[in-house]
Amino acid sequence: FFVNPEQIQDSEIVILGTDVNHIRNVLRMKPGEKVSVSTDGAFREYQCEISKIEPDCIRLGVLSVEEENRELPCRITLFQGLPKSDKMELIIQKAVELGVYAVVPVETRRTVVKLDAKKEQNKLKRWNAIAQSAAKQSGRMVIPKVRESMKLADALAYAQSLDHIFIPYEHAQGMAKSREFLQAVKSGQSVGIFIGPEGGFEESEVQKACGMGAQPVSLGRRILRTETAGLAILSVLMFQLEC
Ligand code: SAM
Repeated sequence: FFVNPEQIQDSEIVILGTDVNHIRNVLRMKPGEKVSVSTDGAFREYQCEISKIEPDCIRLGVLSVEEENRELPCRITLFQGLPKSDKMELIIQKAVELGVYAVVPVETRRTVVKLDAKKEQNKLKRWNAIAQSAAKQSGRMVIPKVRESMKLADALAYAQSLDHIFIPYEHAQGMAKSREFLQAVKSGQSVGIFIGPEGGFEESEVQKACGMGAQPVSLGRRILRTETAGLAILSVLMFQLEC
């Protein structure tokens, strides 16, 4: 469980909000059972025991505190071409499990979905709740953020500070070159991954991205769905970087 620092008081942690229902009614936990707790980005994990279940809070006794880090040694931002229906939810959940640092929905020429300001705020709230829940279940030390959507040109400008920018492209030439690009990523570096929506990128968009430092990579000879492509490249990087 993630808690705010104010919920930690010496040897006691107080669980509040929706987590109370989760512990009591979903997990059906009882006093004496063990729970792991951390705060977003603190890299410290508290091993606790449930001491008291109250109507609107759960009190935990702290048994031990340890420094912990299960984050990838690279900060990877997924710039995802906005997909249709609720595919973004699946992408966020799985990307968080695989260790993504942040997700940015991106509007490209072939993006079909249009988000007005109100719709986007509602979506962002839901997407960030999904990221938090995935971070909790996969034992992340950091809760990845889903940021406001950007147009492709703005997203590329935003990515300029990153060490590597990759644009998986189904017409990219050669696996050997792609492997070389991906293997150049080292611990401590930052990475941006640009994935097209269902209709893919227009060639001119890929050319523009490459002109701004993006490296085109192939993810094999089969066409992957937009919701598969980001997860595939994240898996490759995770496998390569995980210590
Ligand atoms: N029409 C399908 C869909 O509905 O999802 C496929 C969409 S695919 C064109 C979307 C994006 O996935 C592409 O823009 C590209 O970023 C990535 N992609 C898919 N297959 C790929 C491959 N074999 N190599 C590299 N990137 C790929």
